[in-house]
Amino acid sequence: MLFKDIQGNNIIKKQLIDSVFNDRVSHSQLLNGKCGSAKLHLALAYAQYLNCSSRLKEDSCGICSSCTKYVSLTHPDLHLIFPVIKSNLSKLSISDNFVDLWRDYILNNPYGSLNGWIDILSSQTNKLATGGIYKEEANVLHKKLAFKNYEAQYRVIIIWMPEKMNLESSNSMLKLLEEPPKGTVFLLVSENLDLLIATIKSRLQTIQVHDFTLEDMINYFPHKAKSEILKVKKLTNSSLGKMITYFQNDIEDDNFLENFTLWMRYVYKVDIINISNWVDKMSQIGKVKQRLFLIYATKMIRECLIINLSSNSLLRVNEEEYKFVTKFASFINEENSIPIFETLELTIKSIDRNAGPKILFFELSLQMIKFLKVKSKFVNK
Ligand SMILES: [Zn+2]
Repeated sequence: MLFKDIQGNNIIKKQLIDSVFNDRVSHSQLLNGKCGSAKLHLALAYAQYLNCSSRLKEDSCGICSSCTKYVSLTHPDLHLIFPVIKSNLSKLSISDNFVDLWRDYILNNPYGSLNGWIDILSSQTNKLATGGIYKEEANVLHKKLAFKNYEAQYRVIIIWMPEKMNLESSNSMLKLLEEPPKGTVFLLVSENLDLLIATIKSRLQTIQVHDFTLEDMINYFPHKAKSEILKVKKLTNSSLGKMITYFQNDIEDDNFLENFTLWMRYVYKVDIINISNWVDKMSQIGKVKQRLFLIYATKMIRECLIINLSSNSLLRVNEEEYKFVTKFASFINEENSIPIFETLELTIKSIDRNAGPKILFFELSLQMIKFLKVKSKFVNK
């Protein structure tokens, strides 16, 4: 991966490039940043730059033998470590056994989230995974590092989400981070610094990676209108990774409106058969869409409240949504709106924690049946 493909982050790029030119490459570095920031992309571009044989002033050449291997993340001196699952099979729970899947995931979206990766692991085993970096990983790495580099000047070990190391693997990894063999560079890429044990943190030179700016996002999606980027930025909590997934899946708000309207109709009629069918469909659309749908549902309930308060100037709906909201608003009042918001928020959190979507959406529907029956204490107008 190349530095030029990363929007913004110019100070960090310069800092990394200067370290190579000044021969001050620290052997244990940590890039920390929120979900959807450029931390992993920066680490991979830096690793490629370290080993490029025709390095340019501001980027790797992109065509030398080392760069070509780095493009597909298959350089023999690039070791990739990331959370994996404990499998029932006799296979060791180490990254090497999942590396093809991870490469595909990251090459498709270098800002991909940990949750997105865990989803892939879960779908591999048909059970819910939490993912971790286990002691076996550190053992295997100890063995690998006992050998000399294959061909590169720098052997690079990327550890993505080191906060998923347990105490045992952290302690085992610590020995390597303290005294890595000559020519070895550790690049840890984390989201939550506080979860790393202090002795590991103290060994690392930390670089804080900031969120992408709106300008960076506009540059990243040159064919999208600014208004659309703003809308999706808000929906995805400013995570570029989720924005990429959103645009790749071409999720339209119109589908959300139709889906939300149907759902509310079933809920109002207490139509359990159709609710079950709806839940089945929702459980198959994947976590990103499930999450976005719930955010959309929250927005629609909020718009109903706004209509009830007769402050139409604050409405943020299109024509179709307006038609729905004016009819549906009579079911939303000061008594039920807060519990609805809370329940939607709790459901989003449960999705983030990989709870089973079928149970979640069914339970949510039952709650909604109850909430919609709550009448306002005050008589309107
Ligand atoms: Zn090169």
